[in-house]
Amino acid sequence: MARSKSRKTLPDGTTVTPGAERSPLVSPGQLPSVDDLLAAFASRAPGLGQDALRALARDAVASARERLLAGETLAGNAVPERRLERAISAMDVSRSRPVLNATGIIVHTNLGRAPVSDEAAAAMAAAAGSAVALEIDPATNHRGGRMDEVSRLIRVLTGAESTLVVNNNASAVLLVLSALGTGQEIVLSRGESVEIGGGFRIPDVLRQSGGTLVEVGTTNRTYAKDYERAITSRTAALLKIHPSNFTMSGFVHEATLADVTEVGRGAGVPTIYDQGNGLLIDGTPYGLPPELTVGAAIAAGADIVTGSGDKLLGGPQAGLICGSSEQVARISEHPWARAVRADKTCLAGIVTTLRHYLAGEELSRVPVWRMLSAPVAGLRRRADDLRATLAVRGVDAAVGESVATPGGGSYPDVAVPSIALRLSSQAGADALARALRTGSPGVFGRVEDGRVVLDLRSVLPEDDVALGEAIVVATVAVDDTLVAVEGAP
Ligand SMILES: *Cc1c(COP(=O)(O)O)cnc(C)c1O
Repeated sequence: MARSKSRKTLPDGTTVTPGAERSPLVSPGQLPSVDDLLAAFASRAPGLGQDALRALARDAVASARERLLAGETLAGNAVPERRLERAISAMDVSRSRPVLNATGIIVHTNLGRAPVSDEAAAAMAAAAGSAVALEIDPATNHRGGRMDEVSRLIRVLTGAESTLVVNNNASAVLLVLSALGTGQEIVLSRGESVEIGGGFRIPDVLRQSGGTLVEVGTTNRTYAKDYERAITSRTAALLKIHPSNFTMSGFVHEATLADVTEVGRGAGVPTIYDQGNGLLIDGTPYGLPPELTVGAAIAAGADIVTGSGDKLLGGPQAGLICGSSEQVARISEHPWARAVRADKTCLAGIVTTLRHYLAGEELSRVPVWRMLSAPVAGLRRRADDLRATLAVRGVDAAVGESVATPGGGSYPDVAVPSIALRLSSQAGADALARALRTGSPGVFGRVEDGRVVLDLRSVLPEDDVALGEAIVVATVAVDDTLVAVEGAP
């Protein structure tokens, strides 16, 4: 029946017969009324109340009317019933639902950056659903600082006297520069006058904070003496920025942080270091290049160090401002500190994540470090197990080497050896990749050489079963037979 072919199944399993069987609409007089639509869809939008459904129905009718008045003829997907149906479906799928990150990019900004540990997620949920003694000392019932606990933990982990947690690292940098640099000069190397991403350009941030940027050195070479020469009575601070998402090679030189803090100390000027990725431990045992941790930056003499909560620290989105009590207090008093402060949920997540480091269990608890430190042999075993499971379900997958990256602008150009499943589909890799992304849970991989590559380094082992199931479902959805492209018997 031609009619049943146009029926659509909504996410709740009910079917609707939208306006496709109508003859094309040519004038506003032919449009259904909002009440007609409400009556037709009342039982088909279980997640929507009357008012919300009415708003969507009004939109559907109004935009159809607009197009008719513009002289268009409306048929198929353009009729109001179809528009409303799409609007209802769009309300149904949350972008915040969990997905599996099989891209091999461990800290993936577009996929929400670091997943937090189970313990941190539980602490965040508990704090979110309850009152929290955030600014009251339970022992004395006196008002206590919201940052006391995090400061205590960061002090042990990094040596920094005091810490302020804000919304993210971008706001941390903006706040620090506003509190310390307004009306004065901030000295920065030309080689570090960078854009971090998403339009976050250090020179623009400085301008916004009311400070004046004094660039020193050249794009490729800057020495300690360049900073020294730039210091005047108007200098508020020396600023160093982790270049985070790019590298320079060849005839290059940057003064080290220790060199710069020495110059600053000699002149009585504080040094601010935007460390960026929030790294707390040495990553070299896991094949990562040497990198200043927040603690090493404090040890190198930085007065203020800023870093992200959701990159290599492995916590929720946050910005950490660590440093001397005097400087952190000054920053905390700036009006923007209140505007960008972290909430109880964020603090619960950060504190619980820091406690993993304190207990020395970050490699087994913090997802980012579980992923980065996973031995390749273990990834290969998981991939082989998955391949065997998939084979039983009639899906062929190949297991082979892959290259993962820490991501999140944390270690530019760093490749981490990894293992991936490779799938090919008669419907094409793009179709399979789309079916995977839109599945439940959604799976995000890469498409390379006409195959879907699912890198296991950015997937936690406890998600392997869900990954296998999602692959089976997506495969069945796009075509019945997947052919192994490599390593098949
Ligand atoms: C990531 C990063 C930022 C921005 O941090 P967000 O947490 O994304 O706001 C700023 N500076 C550096 C050096 C970074 O790496």
